[in-house]
Amino acid sequence: MIATVPLGAADGRLLVTDSYGQGARSRRPVRLAGTASGPIEDVAPTSRFFFNGRRRPRFEFEVQDAAKVTVELVDAAQSVLRTWGVEAVPGEPHRLQWNGRLGGRAAPSGTYTFRFAATAAGALRAPGLAEPTFAFADHIFPIRGKHNLGFTRTNGFGGGRGHKGQDMFARCGTTLAAARGGRVQYAGYHSAAGYYVVIDGAATGRDYVYMHLRRPALVEAGQRVFTGQKIGEVGETGRATGCHLHFEMWSAPGWYEGGRAFDPLPALRRWDAAG
Ligand SMILES: [Zn+2]
Repeated sequence: MIATVPLGAADGRLLVTDSYGQGARSRRPVRLAGTASGPIEDVAPTSRFFFNGRRRPRFEFEVQDAAKVTVELVDAAQSVLRTWGVEAVPGEPHRLQWNGRLGGRAAPSGTYTFRFAATAAGALRAPGLAEPTFAFADHIFPIRGKHNLGFTRTNGFGGGRGHKGQDMFARCGTTLAAARGGRVQYAGYHSAAGYYVVIDGAATGRDYVYMHLRRPALVEAGQRVFTGQKIGEVGETGRATGCHLHFEMWSAPGWYEGGRAFDPLPALRRWDAAG
């Protein structure tokens, strides 16, 4: 079972208390994920929001008179993608949050705007809302530092004998982020892959695989991670020549679950261009 605990919580036997103050303690100690290896760190740039990222696009407003307010989310072409109806009360801050989904799927990368649909004139105020237009990305490039995508044929998908991913070079110790958050399917060590981690991507059947990490991944199986969360560092563990990230993408239903690896380079180039 995975549960969220406050920062500073310690490992040990778990005490569960009911509303009458009666408690029971677990027989076995509970171990906290993410403390042995370090804190949970958001390494995504703050200039954009990311699908399944730690920060969500929000819109806050107040009204001067009671009003039924409709807020719309529009894309760069001004197409209305979502609406929220709010019975707004004067003097109360109203806050909307978008989870980055459209029709149950991750919205595509782009520029989006929260705006008011036609309402009673003069009723609205939007305090502290400097930029209701925001940039949104469906993934983040996983190497958060200087890197190159690899230039030889053997670095790419299908290179050598059945190379299943893209080798990208960066100095050992360069931060690695989850390109798409989700649930950690596996984290461990393999003689060829070195320290590696497999993440079952949120709102997609796809899996994302990161190999040759410098040290054990900062996340463990079953744990939820957000897009842009630090999961480890570039290394050369396992069968690796030089510090690099071997990155794989697997189609639904995923890595050794019936999916197959496909060439991740076109996606990587897109994410890399966005920074
Ligand atoms: Zn490789």
